[in-house]
Amino acid sequence: MPKTNDRSQTFSCMKCGEPYKVYPPQTGYEIAMLEPCTEGCNKSMNVICKNCSNEIKIYWCSGHIHVVSGSF
Ligand SMILES: [Zn+2]
Ligand SMILES: [Zn+2]
Repeated sequence: MPKTNDRSQTFSCMKCGEPYKVYPPQTGYEIAMLEPCTEGCNKSMNVICKNCSNEIKIYWCSGHIHVVSGSF
């Protein structure tokens, strides 16, 4: 398995637009989402925006194919 790739994902603050990186909390959780995984695999993490101190909750998924209802 390649160890060189950066597994961080970039989001931006919903209030001020400041970009920030999040890293998987543990091996096996590769997908960061702003809503809980419907498959029950989510692991939540709070991130504080360094610019405006807005708290953002990130949910990590182990990699299901997610069907987001109402998006299309
Ligand atoms: Zn912010
Ligand atoms: Zn999932």
